[in-house]
Amino acid sequence: MGAGELFLERMTRAEALAILSSPRIADAGSLVSGNVGAEPAATVKTPDDQLPVLPDDHGALRDMALACTRCRLSQGRTQVVFSDGPRDARLMVVGEAPGANEDSTGVPFVGAAGKYLDVLLSTVGLGREDTVYIANVLKCRPPGNRDPKPDEIEACSPYLKKQIELVRPEALLAVGSFAGKLLTGREKSSLGKLRGEVHSYLGVPLVVTYHPAALLRNPRWTRPFWEDLQLLRDVMDASRASK
Ligand code: SF4
Repeated sequence: MGAGELFLERMTRAEALAILSSPRIADAGSLVSGNVGAEPAATVKTPDDQLPVLPDDHGALRDMALACTRCRLSQGRTQVVFSDGPRDARLMVVGEAPGANEDSTGVPFVGAAGKYLDVLLSTVGLGREDTVYIANVLKCRPPGNRDPKPDEIEACSPYLKKQIELVRPEALLAVGSFAGKLLTGREKSSLGKLRGEVHSYLGVPLVVTYHPAALLRNPRWTRPFWEDLQLLRDVMDASRASK
């Protein structure tokens, strides 16, 4: 039995349910306009009304994204990186944007950081192939892996919102500050402040943690990352137990 399983073994069902009913859980409500807790709301606006109505069919939504030219990133991409994983996934991981490997393959989280993420998720019983759906805030690679720009997030985030609505996972895991700030609506909060509590987006419990690429640069963050995965797993188990 691994350390993660031991942790869960010690947790009672009542304790798990208490996490779900905790006042720490607050729903951001919108990808960009939510205001959780005392932190200022995000300033980035999502112009959903400027997009054609997004389809309620995953394949049609993907096709729309694959042909998308809504922002400058369409000009330098090799492939649009829409998602990976089953539509009925229990967990949805939200990252930042494709890197070079993802841009060339069209699949998110396939480089060293992605493999590390797979290993860490497996330590809490979340196998990527059958349990996890992965998508990024941006579907196209920023040149040179630079940070996403606000107008790019504004243009692309409606796709992500619709993906979350369609998949309706038991929980969301935002990796990295861009995904964490966007989904919590707390643009001014540091990643450190977003970690360690259970947020909510569209009624789906949300945990924020480091990007796996950051763990490769700073191995000392692996332990807190794993602790965030424990919190995530507790929330998912509590969600199942309450149904
Ligand atoms: S990043 Fe998003 S909004 Fe920009 S072109 Fe790609 S799919 Fe469209």
